[in-house]
Amino acid sequence: MKKITIIGGGIIGMTLAVYLDHTQYEVTVIDQLTGQATSASAGIISPWLSKRRNKKWYRLAQDGAAFFERLVQDFGLDQKIYAPSGTLIVQPEAQLLALAELAALRKETAPEIGEIKLLTSLETKQALPLLKPQPSLSISGGGRLDGRGYLLRLKTIAQKKKVKFIEGTAVIQQQSDTWHVKVNEQSIFSDILCVTAGPGIQQLLAPLGYQVDVRPQKGQLLSFATPFRTDDWPVAMLAGEGDLIPFADGTILLGATHENNAKWDLTPTEEAKLQLTAGISGFLQDPDSLFSMPLSYRVGTRAYTADFAPFFGDLTDQGSLFAASGLGSSGLTTGPYIGFLLAQAINSNTHHATDFSQYSKPMTNYITPSMDLT
Ligand SMILES: Cc1cc2nc3c(=O)[nH]c(=O)nc-3n(C[C@H](O)[C@H](O)[C@H](O)COP(=O)(O)OP(=O)(O)OC[C@H]3O[C@@H](n4cnc5c(N)ncnc54)[C@H](O)[C@@H]3O)c2cc1C
Repeated sequence: MKKITIIGGGIIGMTLAVYLDHTQYEVTVIDQLTGQATSASAGIISPWLSKRRNKKWYRLAQDGAAFFERLVQDFGLDQKIYAPSGTLIVQPEAQLLALAELAALRKETAPEIGEIKLLTSLETKQALPLLKPQPSLSISGGGRLDGRGYLLRLKTIAQKKKVKFIEGTAVIQQQSDTWHVKVNEQSIFSDILCVTAGPGIQQLLAPLGYQVDVRPQKGQLLSFATPFRTDDWPVAMLAGEGDLIPFADGTILLGATHENNAKWDLTPTEEAKLQLTAGISGFLQDPDSLFSMPLSYRVGTRAYTADFAPFFGDLTDQGSLFAASGLGSSGLTTGPYIGFLLAQAINSNTHHATDFSQYSKPMTNYITPSMDLT
């Protein structure tokens, strides 16, 4: 049986690990469990009204959102992990009309958008009672994903499929016919190596002579433990940076920051709290009552590239070194589908023919070999 090592057990690595063909491959996942974006994330799955002009990214995000229906079935995700909660977009009224038109247009290729409805002030408040009365646009197909819950669920499934897990920081030591990965003084040898380590990919691939265009971005969000009955509350995407994500157990997330200069720092900051609470106060009926609830922080490091687009694929064209990163702020939406596509390519051994170009630019746009690998 061939051996595959996956470095990085975030949303891409774990989805890949589960979708690999375990009759063909013995799979090991290595993760250092620090700064992971997936566990820290906000959980919004609603890419359709993005103003980004990158068509490849949009196709990936659209197909990634549609793929959730399959994920729910394949992994038995319950409503605590993934719920098609619907999304409310709260913007000035004139912009809502334009967004409703855009949604109708996008629905032609993405029926999973569901019902598109402009809500009156009263209807908005009825849908999400924390908000003060204000008009909004409701998209019934939007969803919310608990990144942490998703990874736990996949780990349970993976363990049943005999996937091995190692906690520690991996270093890729050398490359010959097999890959040699060192972790906790242990040597792991494998035929195929997959590097799905978020921004950690840069350091991991450097010893192999690759330069990777990927930067760390700190993201913080606030998590309020509330007694509210939130089961059927939608996610609210508010004008500006603040979003409000209610989870089924009463947890309400508020976030997130995008801090480009903080690099790998994972310290929760008072500035982030002030920025996020100030940004959202104006939308709430009674901000003080929410902000007085028990509060904890979530902090993670996103990976982003110069053009904010993700990359993934076979780095050597030999089917032995796969990489994926740069998912930025929308990786919960695109990550599972990327993991699935990589697994399909590896399972079918069609890496030469596998064409990811409809979804991302060539990897050479992001990863430059700086020395000969032969
Ligand atoms: C605050 C915040 C809010 C977000 N909100 C949303 C949202 O609402 N919707 C959305 O779609 N996306 C959101 N995102 C983005 C999304 O979470 C990420 O894009 C996605 O989770 C990235 O997944 P990944 O698997 O590439 O990386 P990660 O989840 O970061 O996983 C990479 C893993 O690699 C491991 N690793 C790195 N280097 C090494 C090494 N040398 N050895 C061993 N392990 C290593 C790390 O420990 C980590 O676990 C948010 C992100 C943040 C931070």
